[in-house]
This record gives sequence, C-alpha cells and structure tokens, in this order.
Amino acid sequence: MAKRGILLALEGVDGCGKSTQAELLASALRERGLEVVLTCEPTDSPLGRQIREYFQGPDRYLSPKEELNLFMADRREHVTEVIDPALAEGKIVITDRYYYSSVAYQGALGLDPDRILAQNEVLSVRPDLTVILALPVAQALARLSGTPQRARQVSEDPAYLEQVATIYAGLQGPHLRHLDASDSAQAVHAALLSLTLEFLETAGGQ
Ligand code: ADP
Ligand code: MG
Repeated sequence: MAKRGILLALEGVDGCGKSTQAELLASALRERGLEVVLTCEPTDSPLGRQIREYFQGPDRYLSPKEELNLFMADRREHVTEVIDPALAEGKIVITDRYYYSSVAYQGALGLDPDRILAQNEVLSVRPDLTVILALPVAQALARLSGTPQRARQVSEDPAYLEQVATIYAGLQGPHLRHLDASDSAQAVHAALLSLTLEFLETAGGQ
C-alpha cells in the first residue's frame, strides 16, 4: 500500500499572502520531484462558489452559525472529494485555508473557537502541519488594496479582521506554526519552504 500523503494548511487574515505562498510552495516542492495537489477553501464546487459570492455580496446577512454550517458543508465535500483521495495516493496536499479559518472568522463573530475546532476535528482530516502567516491587519489590507480587479469582501472590515487576527495569534498546537509574513514574498517563501522541508524530513521519512 502506498504511503499516506501529507496535508499542509496555510492560514491567516485576508491579504497576508496565503495564495501567493501556496503557489510558490507547490512549485518548489514539485521541482523537488514531489507530487503536490494545490487546493483551497472555499472550494470551487457549487457550494464553495456560493460562499464566495455571498462574501462578495453587499451584506453579511447569515447568522454566524449559518456561515459556519456552510463552510463545514463545503469542507466535508473538500475532504471527501479532494483531500482524502490525494492523501491516499501519497501526495502532498497544500490547502489555502482550512478549518482554522472557521475557528478564527466565525470565532470572531462570537462563536466559541474551541467548539468550532472540536467540531471540525471530528469532521475533517487533521492537517499534518498548519502554518499561520502572521501580518498586521493594516499591512494585509494595504496589500489587498494594491491588488487590481479584486472585489472587496464583506468580511474585510478592519475591526473585525483585528479580532480574526487575535484569534489566529492565540492558536497553538504541536502541528501549528506562526510565520512572520511581513517580508517580501520571496523571503517569506524561503522561510516557509525551509520549515516545510524540515517538517517533511522529520515526518516519518516521508
Ligand atoms: P491571501 O491569499 O492571503 O489573501 P494573497 O497571496 O492573495 O493573500 O496576497 C494579497 C496581495 O498581496 C496580492 O496582491 C499579492 O501579490 C500581494 N503579496 C503577497 N505576498 C506579499 C508580500 N510578501 N509582500 C508584498 N505583497 C505581497
Ligand atoms: Mg487568497
């Protein structure tokens, strides 16, 4: 039987550089001959697309619980359709956002972060490594405002994102790392790659 793959999750507030780093990391690992599946949440499924449309819409009218349920339904499908099969084939899966996003974003709306985490740990595969890209909210929003053609999201309220960032900053666990994301994309990439390679080496000779 093939060796089970590795699940890496990138997390952090909007604009911290997750998508940029996910691409750079996937390319660097592929250059080293590793098989990588790059994926994201919300997913590209019909449900994932509905979630994106909602966050690009004018109002955030769903209750925190309803939002959480939508994300969890999308995640359940993500795990079943994409993540689990790739891991079973021994691949490295990099997901741009995963369940710590629910912990931070719906936690910042008043739901209990510990409870969100517990619910998600039951429903989803646990990531082998989660890297939270740490960046002050003002800098993250400045990066986003410099991104052409990008629709603003209803979740991008600075005060709200401060609460999201606070929850992210307080997260701890054996498979959780906080990485300073304030440097250039290449410098952050170098740090993320070295952290990842070190992890892969110690992850049971994967
Ligand atoms: P996220 O996926 O976390 O929302 P992105 O990767 O889309 O963040 O990055 C947001 C914007 O900031 C993009 O325009 C991207 O090109 C830019 N960016 C990403 N990383 C950096 C960095 N280290 N320094 C400056 N700008 C960056
Ligand atoms: Mg992104």
